Amino acid sequence: MATSKLEYIWLDGYKPTQSLRSKTKLVQDFSGKLEDLKDWSFDGSSTEQAEGGSSDCIMRPVFVCPDPAIKNGWLVMTEVLNADGTAHESNGRALIDDEDDDFWFGFEQEYFIWDNETNRPIGFPAGGFPAPQGPYYCGVGGQNVFGREIKDEHLELCIDAGLDIEGTNGEVATGQWEFQIMAKGAASAGDQIWVARYLLERLTEKYGLSINYHPKPLGQLDWNGSGMHANFSNTYIRTAASEEKIKKVCEAFRGVVDEHIAVYGAYNDQRLTGKHETAAITDFSYGVSDRGASIRIPLFTKNNGWSGYLEDRRPASNADPYKVAARIIKTVKTVS
Ligand code: ADP
Ligand code: MN
Ligand code: MN
Ligand code: MN
Repeated sequence: MATSKLEYIWLDGYKPTQSLRSKTKLVQDFSGKLEDLKDWSFDGSSTEQAEGGSSDCIMRPVFVCPDPAIKNGWLVMTEVLNADGTAHESNGRALIDDEDDDFWFGFEQEYFIWDNETNRPIGFPAGGFPAPQGPYYCGVGGQNVFGREIKDEHLELCIDAGLDIEGTNGEVATGQWEFQIMAKGAASAGDQIWVARYLLERLTEKYGLSINYHPKPLGQLDWNGSGMHANFSNTYIRTAASEEKIKKVCEAFRGVVDEHIAVYGAYNDQRLTGKHETAAITDFSYGVSDRGASIRIPLFTKNNGWSGYLEDRRPASNADPYKVAARIIKTVKTVS
């Protein structure tokens, strides 16, 4: 007999940006299978998800993986339901058909490792600025790199948890990093991004640091913000074999800019200025290999005979991947 520690994770009801919450449940000899996990509940009046008079919200397990940092530990991603079993309004996952694995999503999660004492990214001297942007992106050496041990430790945790992490890189600003996760199925991609975010945020606790997902944490200075580029494909895009068909998908996004921006993260107007490899928030454009466009057609897709995937560059680092994916699926489905 071994005592298993199940860390039930959920998204709270804070606006405009939801945060991760979790609590631990002990069971004997958990099998590791999702179907053996029971619903659990929490006090929704403490997370802006219910009134005090009727405060129980339900957590329904949707994804489970080993917790690499805890002996006999498991990470249980859940979705939040109301007491009557309907989806809670904070539940973005409910917008996705989790049986549909034709849509593949690869999210590029950017973030800053943040020093709470100076209220700046790590690598920023208190009260001042480091050397301007340029040498930090994919850089090496102690003058350019801040937080590599955290980035690498997070990578190991994701691998050991069995997440579909594809890579990491140092980003353009000091103390800014990225990881990429791709999954076949929007729900799975969203589950895995949230679990990877959980592992990252929890990791910073022992360093006395935190993760800042604000899309433009340094304001309108000459420092990049953070995005969560959404790379996506379905059978239609993967097998298009036609420039016209690929561009038809891009065109479908033109008339629904506001609907997309509405779920692409709070304060994204501060990031989507048209500078620092972004398109302006009110514009819509697409182009092959164009990092200043709203949607980039990767060179791979063109060179692969106009079959492959597309990259929506607009989602911000603090966006909910469930809501982003649900909106993209809705738009792509108007074409195919
Ligand atoms: P860049 O920084 O050049 O924009 P990255 O290499 O960081 O690109 O990220 C590209 C992402 O695209 C990866 O997460 C990858 O898994 C994803 N991707 C590749 N092929 C597909 C596909 N067919 N469908 C969805 N996503 C894909
Ligand atoms: Mn990238
Ligand atoms: Mn990037
Ligand atoms: Mn990208």
